[in-house]
Amino acid sequence: MAQVTRGAQEARGAQVARVTDHGGGVWSVPVPIPDNPLGHTLVHLLDTDRGPVLIDTGWDDPTAWDALTSGLAACGASVADVHGVLITHHHPDHHGLSGQVREASGAWIAMHSADAQVVRRAREAEPSHWLDYLEEKLTAAGAPEEHLAPLRAPRTSGRTGLPGRRPALPDREIVPGELLGLPGRRLRAIWTPGHTPGHVCLHLEEAHPAAGEGLSGHGRLFSGDHLLPGITPHIGLYEDPDDATVTDPLGDYLDSLERVAALAPAEVLPAHQYAFTDAPARVRALLDHHEERLAGLLALLSTPLTPWRLAEAMEWNRPWEQIPFGSRNIAVSEAEAHLRRLVKLGRAEAVPGSDPVLYQAI
Ligand SMILES: [Zn+2]
Ligand SMILES: [Zn+2]
Repeated sequence: MAQVTRGAQEARGAQVARVTDHGGGVWSVPVPIPDNPLGHTLVHLLDTDRGPVLIDTGWDDPTAWDALTSGLAACGASVADVHGVLITHHHPDHHGLSGQVREASGAWIAMHSADAQVVRRAREAEPSHWLDYLEEKLTAAGAPEEHLAPLRAPRTSGRTGLPGRRPALPDREIVPGELLGLPGRRLRAIWTPGHTPGHVCLHLEEAHPAAGEGLSGHGRLFSGDHLLPGITPHIGLYEDPDDATVTDPLGDYLDSLERVAALAPAEVLPAHQYAFTDAPARVRALLDHHEERLAGLLALLSTPLTPWRLAEAMEWNRPWEQIPFGSRNIAVSEAEAHLRRLVKLGRAEAVPGSDPVLYQAI
């Protein structure tokens, strides 16, 4: 799921579910995300010689399912006709309904192997294993006792607080750089890790239907959560209780941004908000935003801080006191992703012997 900053209020007001015909056998269907300011996921339908293929499916919820099926009907298709499902990344607002679509149609589901691994882990993991991991991680980040206490409480009362239905295992792998083999279409997978380790954008390497009307660029890009017109996706650590590899998700994300700018698509079809042009300009704005954010963090780190203290001091879309429990965990993960980047760039370091670990600017 993308982080909501600016633009969320407009999205909330614009929930009239309208199917959009983008031309050239491409439609978007807004599928609502219950109780979320993002409003909806734009599920894309791509017509192929063997029937419709979906890019993402939407949140697992009866209202969302109704919106998806009636939206497909408005495109002249039926969920039973769906031939394949391409998933940009494993988040539940993108992959939630995939299992139900597969049951209704017999379609295959394809995903990048790194996100398929996350799905496999989520299906197999004991909820208590995950909670232990979260508690340990937050303790190491310097979270105060009042934040850690609720993490222990659900287990004593027998509730886990984790969503019930398991995400669907994909049947196929999306291989970076390769064409997806869709009959009659030319769609290429572009690996864009950062928001998740296996996030992909899908580049439709066909002339834009409006080419020749003053629109420059190459084809269209289904950008998932990687490139959105008015909000920035959440970049946290890649959470894996069983893998201690030190990754650099923010570094991955910035590289992935440059990769999609270099494609220079004529139009971007994102999974939230609305379609837009001039991807390179949007990429520049995001690179500038992250550069400014890193500079701001460095200034804060003139005093040694734990990741938790850094998260408290960072600027969010509302004051820290108003940020709910779950979002604070996401915020700390984002602070840690920025710390990783600064350490990797040699601009910050851990204070030797500190526990919980303190970071300072160099
Ligand atoms: Zn997401
Ligand atoms: Zn999303």
